[in-house]
Amino acid sequence: MRAVIIDGYVDEPACFGVPPYISPYIRYIAGALREKGFLEHDIDYFTIDSLRTATPEDAQLLKKADIVVILSGMTVPGKYLRSSPITPGEIENLCTLASGIKVLGGPIRLGFSKEGGKGAKELGIDAEDTILAKSDIEAFVYDLFENGKLCDPEDISHRMRTVDEIGRWSKLGAFIIAQHPDYPHVMCEMETYRGCGRKVHCSFCTERFYGHSDHRPVADVIAEVSSLYDLGARNFRIGRQPDLLSYHAKDIGADVLQPSPDVLETLYSGIRKVAPELKVLHMDNTNPATMVAYPEQSLEILKTIVKYHTSGDIAALGIESADPAVVRANDLK
Ligand code: SF4
Repeated sequence: MRAVIIDGYVDEPACFGVPPYISPYIRYIAGALREKGFLEHDIDYFTIDSLRTATPEDAQLLKKADIVVILSGMTVPGKYLRSSPITPGEIENLCTLASGIKVLGGPIRLGFSKEGGKGAKELGIDAEDTILAKSDIEAFVYDLFENGKLCDPEDISHRMRTVDEIGRWSKLGAFIIAQHPDYPHVMCEMETYRGCGRKVHCSFCTERFYGHSDHRPVADVIAEVSSLYDLGARNFRIGRQPDLLSYHAKDIGADVLQPSPDVLETLYSGIRKVAPELKVLHMDNTNPATMVAYPEQSLEILKTIVKYHTSGDIAALGIESADPAVVRANDLK
């Protein structure tokens, strides 16, 4: 059995996967396939930009693959310096070219938008025999195989992956970074948790669709960094979470979760231990409401980050508007 993973890129409020970044989804999908018996050399990975200049041999890989998995989803699209996300037309063309089973998924299931400021639209893709993974694509791909055989996609329920599953798949799928065009300078987007812990959610944001926050064990994140580092990765961004200050935060009944500074110290010191020669350790996403509600704990965490990170790091606060009327109307933080 052979598989091709096509990276059409993702850009979400709390996850980035446009080169030089590789999103966790790609590594999870590769790991899910590995756990179902695919060998590393059975799995080919292309970014959409590299496929645009594909050789005839690359096209043959696509034609011959038993399964082609296309990841896409620009829910908060931006302007990119040297990459262009996959278009609906390209998805249709690739699905026509591939003869095996085709699975499309990722944040694209929530809608499709070409650029920032434009609302996401329903998928209008004309590719009849392509299956849209309506929940987590990595879980759908995993469930598609049983005892080395492909199951009927109609029998597969669309579900979310578990934290335990991505703990395993992230390590098994780490090898795929070597196929990224920017390897070894690829930037690995790391997930600590997904799902926004706020009780109400900002009107524009898709993070609510991931449900309650599902925090990964610190040891799993460190183990994933270790696997990636052993395979040559030197650039990491802890970017896949809505608020890094709230990683393993406690619900003490207040509007805002109470941060856990010790957890961040364990995470950052652990990463430095397993990846002593890393070149980049950056972060993304902090919620200013956490800083206002818990200034002491937030400061402690920020000091921890400064102790271990590399230069050029930015704590993006994500303040959409300072206009009280706009904040109220859109439930902004
Ligand atoms: S605080 Fe708002 S923008 Fe940030 S993840 Fe939650 S809902 Fe989305």
